[in-house]
Amino acid sequence: MSLRPVSEALQEMLNRLPSAKTTETLTLAEGANRILAEDIYSPINVPSFNNSAMDGYAFRLADLTNFDGLTVAGKAFAGNPFSGELKAGECVRIMTGAMVPAECDVVVMQEEAETQTLTSGQVLVKFCKLPKLGQNIRRVGEDVKQGDLVLAKGSVLNVASLPLLASLGIAQVSVFTRLKVAILSTGDELTSVGHPLEQGKIYDTNRFAVRLMLEKLNCEILDFGILPDDPVIFEQTFNQAQQQADVLITSGGVSVGEADFTKDVLEKLGEIGFWKIAMKPGKPFAFGKLQHAWFFGLPGNPVSALVTFYQLVQPALAKLAGVNAQRIANLTQNLTAMSEMPLKKAAGRQDYQRGFYYVNEQGEIAVRPVGTQGSHLFSAFYESNCFIVLETERGNVNAGETVTIQPFNHLLS
Ligand code: AMP
Ligand code: MG
Repeated sequence: MSLRPVSEALQEMLNRLPSAKTTETLTLAEGANRILAEDIYSPINVPSFNNSAMDGYAFRLADLTNFDGLTVAGKAFAGNPFSGELKAGECVRIMTGAMVPAECDVVVMQEEAETQTLTSGQVLVKFCKLPKLGQNIRRVGEDVKQGDLVLAKGSVLNVASLPLLASLGIAQVSVFTRLKVAILSTGDELTSVGHPLEQGKIYDTNRFAVRLMLEKLNCEILDFGILPDDPVIFEQTFNQAQQQADVLITSGGVSVGEADFTKDVLEKLGEIGFWKIAMKPGKPFAFGKLQHAWFFGLPGNPVSALVTFYQLVQPALAKLAGVNAQRIANLTQNLTAMSEMPLKKAAGRQDYQRGFYYVNEQGEIAVRPVGTQGSHLFSAFYESNCFIVLETERGNVNAGETVTIQPFNHLLS
């Protein structure tokens, strides 16, 4: 079996997976971290009325040439408009955000005005320089026009987008239903955290890591625990999981020695491809469809499991959840950095080494590897903030060479 390049494996999955279909309607607050299932057009103009950008005076510009100073006819505050009628030679004392009276076509800031109280008690205002027509007036629809597309279907509702909807008075949104994801780990050697470790056993890291990442992706999680390496139990549990969930994510049992055994079980339940991906860590990976659910089989090795989840499963789940293509493409961003240290790299697979990047004294992005890069060593993740992505054909990297880095997105940071 030949190795599949990461980009091809990802494209193949994205082509095959459908985008979300089922929707529900929620209030804005309930919609946080959900995926928008409709295009949203603005129901109103923003601002919805002409208002002042300054504290100052509003008037008709033409009056300045006919009068030696304007008398103040009243006040306009934000939320409390001037209700009178403006006669020739009059102006309105106006505050920022207040409605500009219909007769006025200019606002002059108070710093450019001089006031004088007349014996009649009226206030006379004179201006030091001639203002421009329309000056300091925020026009109706200047920010958003009624009918403008403000958020496209497939956008994520978050701190950046929800307040925008609130500013338009939109109280409810149609969102895609959350993905139900079943998780389980396989391996006779695994023990759940919180239980004593018997000789020859190890703690189950993957189910914990996958759960945390799925929580960040706002999925509904169904935890099927740890399965011993027993085909009968595999079949029963996989079957049960796929009846209840949209997606089943397993770890372990896909590497060469174990793949055949898992393969037999999965072939009975659906159509699963056992892939060898040209990536390090993370070569063995399984993808396909059970009767009722999509299937992702992560490698058992914890670092491999995490890297394949991040690089392959994260975008795949985004597609299933209804995230739009543009945003899926932007889940990871590549930057160029100077490697501070030599890096060991064998040609043939794309490396995802763990690195720490920062801006050095010369103002350039520099990166150094963190810890050792063995795929079983999880500890290095904690101090890293990026993957150093070393292309398939590349060999060892010398200090000072340019490399591609991929800063961790919110899933890992
Ligand atoms: P496997 O893919 O099942 O052959 O597992 C590869 C390696 O990862 C073995 O050393 C396993 O013990 C280890 N491993 C498998 N699953 C887990 C897990 N859930 N947590 C920690 N290590 C695991
Ligand atoms: Mg195993």
